[in-house]
Amino acid sequence: MEKVDVLWATVYLLVQLAGGLAVLVGVRRHRPSAHVAWVLLGAGHLALFCGNVPTYLAPLVGMEKPPYPSPLTLIYVAQYPLTALGLLLLVRRRTPSWDIAGLIDAAIVTVSASLLSWIYLIDPLMSGAELGLAERTAAVAFPLGDLLLLALGARLMLGAGLRPPALRVLAAYLVLFTMADTGLSVATLSGRPALGWAWAEVLVTCASVALGVAGLHPSMRQVEERSPTAGPDAGRRRLLLLTIASLLAPATLLVQYHRDAPLYVPLVCATCGVLYLLVLARMVGLVAAQREVAITDGLTGLHTRRYFEHSLAVEAERALRGAGVAVLLLDIDHFKSVNDTYGHHGGDRVLCEVARRLQATLRDGELIARYGGEEFAVLVPNTVPPIAREVAERVRSALSDTPMPVSPTRSAPVTVSIGVATMPEDADSGDELVRLADRLLYASKEAGRNRVTSTVNLHAAAPGSTPVVVAPPVPAAARQ
Ligand code: GH3
Ligand code: MG
Ligand code: MG
Repeated sequence: MEKVDVLWATVYLLVQLAGGLAVLVGVRRHRPSAHVAWVLLGAGHLALFCGNVPTYLAPLVGMEKPPYPSPLTLIYVAQYPLTALGLLLLVRRRTPSWDIAGLIDAAIVTVSASLLSWIYLIDPLMSGAELGLAERTAAVAFPLGDLLLLALGARLMLGAGLRPPALRVLAAYLVLFTMADTGLSVATLSGRPALGWAWAEVLVTCASVALGVAGLHPSMRQVEERSPTAGPDAGRRRLLLLTIASLLAPATLLVQYHRDAPLYVPLVCATCGVLYLLVLARMVGLVAAQREVAITDGLTGLHTRRYFEHSLAVEAERALRGAGVAVLLLDIDHFKSVNDTYGHHGGDRVLCEVARRLQATLRDGELIARYGGEEFAVLVPNTVPPIAREVAERVRSALSDTPMPVSPTRSAPVTVSIGVATMPEDADSGDELVRLADRLLYASKEAGRNRVTSTVNLHAAAPGSTPVVVAPPVPAAARQ
């Protein structure tokens, strides 16, 4: 054996060993909670090293290379399930609720890659006359293992969550390694080195370095961090990737057609169908997410004014047919002074606390919305004026009776004024109902705040009389 071959075989094996061990050293040094995942990644790479040792060492000591395939091949192949399990554990940590959008994106990439792998590697390897059955089975295990790694790597990278340097380097490891493996499969298939064995070895060496760097980098602890968002972004690069992945199936058909090669029509059609359904599922998710954003207030998580108005229009229609509906409009009293005294953050805390208490006080069918800055609206369906008034009183008391947090350690008394109007008793349309509730709200303000004003007694009184204001005692703290 040439000296240079001996040197290269030694370097090749040592770098693989170092890559796997570096991950284990990283686990000891950085102590990630997901240590099992990282140990599996390191063990996967050490399996590759162990599988390679006899093949590369035998010629160095003047022995025959072990036969292929052999039990040794099993050790080599064990790297795939070990690495895949490590990746799966990291994915679970980052997105315990599975993040369907990330799952669909990864599925799109994997389905396209599987088609290519089937047409250009797996099927030819399985039907290759020059390989025996055992050789064929072993040869097919590599592209299948690569697809498994690609699926999990894509899920890890395309799912929601932070992408610290260690995660990016881990992705580089997977790309380099699967590229090398694919090159080797092509070489096996063609009987002559297409990519070149040496090239594949260089790629595996780079992959080993990347894995070691990922394991040793301090940011490896952040790879397991739970994603702050439920789903991934839908940025341009992702859309480009998904577009290319989705177009690969029809493009492959075209290429095969022009090469006069087997067309795999049923397989390509089935793949296109699956890709189409995946893209459709992703679109449904995106539309639902956009709608959720449009109808949800960013600060309080309550519904927006637009959603309230839409629901009011529906309920007003029903109210004209007999099912009564009430609107409660609430405005926080002297909110400017809350902002002035405790800062904007203090004010925001109060708004969130109001939303929380409203949700805790009201029933499921009652719709709560943030109507404006510090104004809230409640839609109470199937009700009559006295009941609506009782609901408003309950709300006022839940908001005003206990001080609200304005900082992590301080609370301050907050009160609200409420106007209540009911349909069909007080108004003929949704717009009119809201206008009346607004006027009654301002009647509450003028009457001294921290009270409910409704038309509950008005119906019994003569037409044209002013609404009867039933006010609770105003706590001294609320008077300014
Ligand atoms: P009144 O009792 O008459 O209602 O007095 P007020 O001080 O509450 O007066 P007004 O209703 O006009 O106050 C609205 C204030 O609400 C002004 C604005 O700075 C504040 N505000 C509006 N939106 C927000 C928000 O999202 N966060 C915070 N912190 N303040 C807001
Ligand atoms: Mg206001
Ligand atoms: Mg106010």
